[in-house]
Amino acid sequence: MSSYSIEIDGAAADEFTIDVAILGPAQAPALVSSSGVHGVEGFLGSAIQLAQLQKLRGQVVDDVRWVFIHAVNPFGFSQIRRFNELNVDLNRNFLPDVCQHAGASAGYVRLNNFLNPQTPPSRFEPFLVKAIWNIARYGMGSLKQSIAQGQYEYPRGIFYGGSAPSQAVQVINQHSAEWIGPAKQVLHVDFHSGLGAFGDYKLLLAELMGTDKCKWYERVFGRDFVEATQESAGTAYRASGPMGEWLQDRFSDVDYRFVTAEFGTYHPVRVLASIRAENRAHHFSLDTSQAFCNAKRELMECFCPADQTWRRRVVASGLEILSQGVSGLSGTTEPIARNDAALFDSVQTPRLR
Ligand SMILES: [Zn+2]
Repeated sequence: MSSYSIEIDGAAADEFTIDVAILGPAQAPALVSSSGVHGVEGFLGSAIQLAQLQKLRGQVVDDVRWVFIHAVNPFGFSQIRRFNELNVDLNRNFLPDVCQHAGASAGYVRLNNFLNPQTPPSRFEPFLVKAIWNIARYGMGSLKQSIAQGQYEYPRGIFYGGSAPSQAVQVINQHSAEWIGPAKQVLHVDFHSGLGAFGDYKLLLAELMGTDKCKWYERVFGRDFVEATQESAGTAYRASGPMGEWLQDRFSDVDYRFVTAEFGTYHPVRVLASIRAENRAHHFSLDTSQAFCNAKRELMECFCPADQTWRRRVVASGLEILSQGVSGLSGTTEPIARNDAALFDSVQTPRLR
């Protein structure tokens, strides 16, 4: 296993690391999984990766080269944040050119004061009323798109894509070729949570539906579980600077297939409220305050619900996706794995004050 430090002022060199474990032959097709691009969503991805590692323990691995990228945003993961040490949403930070780190949609600019209040969270603030008013006015689909696609104008705002490539992007840029090795065929599953119906999942694709690649994803994972991000009516929205498309460009000489595995939790308005409140608390509340603790707890619940049924189901589904991935890459089949919600307990313990 290799560890790559993310430097944070005042922290020890090994406190925040991206860890990468690799198993299996170098020449085989690579099955890459990644967790924690969005910090707090790392609890889900990490639990699935742990379950898969347990499943592989003691087995001869010869079908695929397993690459586990754990905690792409270790700061956000440990601090119960979606964003990184510089308030950057990493899935908006993978841009080919630094000049692209600029701008915000007209919709975001219009809603900036609502999305990013410059005050600590308050129990008496009518978020829901304002949110419903905005949904009625602009429509859910267009609101989701304009808010969540990413912005490069408000460094303390939500969905901020940063002003330059983050440390995590630099680590991936420098080392991903070693991780993948000589494999000419790669399937990468990037685990996320917070979008979609409770406990269900969708595999979001950058490719357009109807293309040959899309048909391959449908065959491997099932038609009902695959969705193109261009289809704004579904779970997805189109983000600027996502990791998957950047990797596909970076490895243009490799057949690099990429899915964002999104596991649903709560209604999007509640999830957005939790992101907004946590970001507000992060910038404007004392970390000893009740408002700060409440905001962290709600963010955790929105991205990793405490419900044991949800936890069992998402780990089982995550293992099934990886198992389908092995079959897709190698043509073999694997049985669907067991459930294990308890794995969440062995993931890092949140350091709530
Ligand atoms: Zn995410």
